[in-house]
Amino acid sequence: MKERYILALDQGTTSSRAILFNKSGVVIGQNQIAFSQIFPKPGWVEHDPEEIWSTQLAAARGAMESAQIESDQVAAMGIANQRETIVVWDKATGRPVYNAIVWQCRRSSDICDELRALGLADLVREKTGLVIDPYFSGTKLMWLFDQVPGLRSRAEKGEVLFGTVDSWLIYKLTGAHLTDPTNASRTLLFNIKKGEWDEELLKLFKIPAAILPRVVPSSGVFGLARKEFLGAEIPVAGCAGDQQAALFGHACFEPGAAKNTYGTGCFTLMNTGKTPVASRHGLLTTVAWDLGKGYTYALEGSVFIGGAVIQWLRDQMGMIGDSAESEALARSVDDSGEVFLVPAFVGMGAPYWDADARGTVVGITRGTTKAHFVRAALESIAYQSKDLLDAMEKDFGADIPCIKADGGASANNFLMQFQADVLNRRVILPEVSETTALGAAYLAGLATGYWESLAEVEGNWRKKREFSPGMAEGKRRRLLDSWAKAVTAARAYIK
Ligand code: ADP
Repeated sequence: MKERYILALDQGTTSSRAILFNKSGVVIGQNQIAFSQIFPKPGWVEHDPEEIWSTQLAAARGAMESAQIESDQVAAMGIANQRETIVVWDKATGRPVYNAIVWQCRRSSDICDELRALGLADLVREKTGLVIDPYFSGTKLMWLFDQVPGLRSRAEKGEVLFGTVDSWLIYKLTGAHLTDPTNASRTLLFNIKKGEWDEELLKLFKIPAAILPRVVPSSGVFGLARKEFLGAEIPVAGCAGDQQAALFGHACFEPGAAKNTYGTGCFTLMNTGKTPVASRHGLLTTVAWDLGKGYTYALEGSVFIGGAVIQWLRDQMGMIGDSAESEALARSVDDSGEVFLVPAFVGMGAPYWDADARGTVVGITRGTTKAHFVRAALESIAYQSKDLLDAMEKDFGADIPCIKADGGASANNFLMQFQADVLNRRVILPEVSETTALGAAYLAGLATGYWESLAEVEGNWRKKREFSPGMAEGKRRRLLDSWAKAVTAARAYIK
């Protein structure tokens, strides 16, 4: 018998990727295709849904080619996707009625102001675990209904369908109109406690229920991909938003288990078990996954500028030639020379939620060098993540023993060690760094019996490297105090 594999589709913000995994959770083939970013106005971001689909399909075929396997060797496939981005399409033709409105897009900020002015923030937080912000799908959908003539009446007649990117891909692959609770929980329309679309919110936001996908478990058969796409009727058997998929891929199965993704921004998620923990410290409450036996929940916090501060040093400031150079420069000095950089370039995310904060550097002296500056930039990624973890521990009411790390900037050993030092917690890198795709693969493979149990999945998990905290407590406290003052300075600046 030929060996069989699981295919993961990782539909990201800038590229569509596909990765094949074997039973040990090891990558055996992959492909990645970038697609167009559409910026119609400042602050607006769109994608072409047909291009999302065509690049994703081509990436899946490419991954199978790179692994040199036949279609019947793919046991199942799972999807991890950019979250919150919306697609609305015509039910009869399957054609999108508008470009996808991307999670980054701020076009619905006036709508959010109106909803907040109506005093809806507490109700929304209570039901959805989210804050009223253009980031989430709901107000993007409201915007679309306001702007596209006739769309609302067509929606009321059931002629158009709405979905996040997972729904769109599942629809294209299988013809079914479905989503999972991790994606539904990012829409601002889903009651995460009851596990259903919230009638009261739909009424308030004037969104017809007929356009919404049915919500089914993250691990389970969504449908069969039509044979014409990949050469066989492969079951689509797993689906989760990318950050939740990464939490799953890290095998963070127990309450208190947490991961931090060090990409453009930083995303920290912590498993809180079967209870949705309401945040009193500026975090979000979200569904981590549904394996068909009730939801597992997570607390989530994000930092807007993480690895992107290193990109900025490279592209805007010309201080480094490539990202990896930042490590050697940071190590060339003993410390940041009391320089602190707060990269609040687009305001600050959790736990501050301060849209008016701006990038700030404090502590510069005549002796400050480029190395100090670059080191301060790397350290800022760790300090911001520390602020998230502090908020999480307060909300959760218990210590987080360690964090598992992934994402482009987790390749920086200086950053990982400094993170362990300021957190005073272990930071662990897994052997398989493709945790997002791996999580989607696990969800699909568990649903179809490719993997038997969570224990088997956990048994696959291998540590690549661990960073242990080693900073003296007095020094750690001093640095964190100075960081807090620098954040105050960044927030004091008024445009
Ligand atoms: P995303 O998925 O958000 O696009 P990635 O996980 O690919 O991001 O990570 C890319 C980010 O990581 C970039 O912002 C880049 O500056 C940063 N990065 C990559 N390598 C390093 C490194 N060695 N040191 C610090 N930052 C890095």
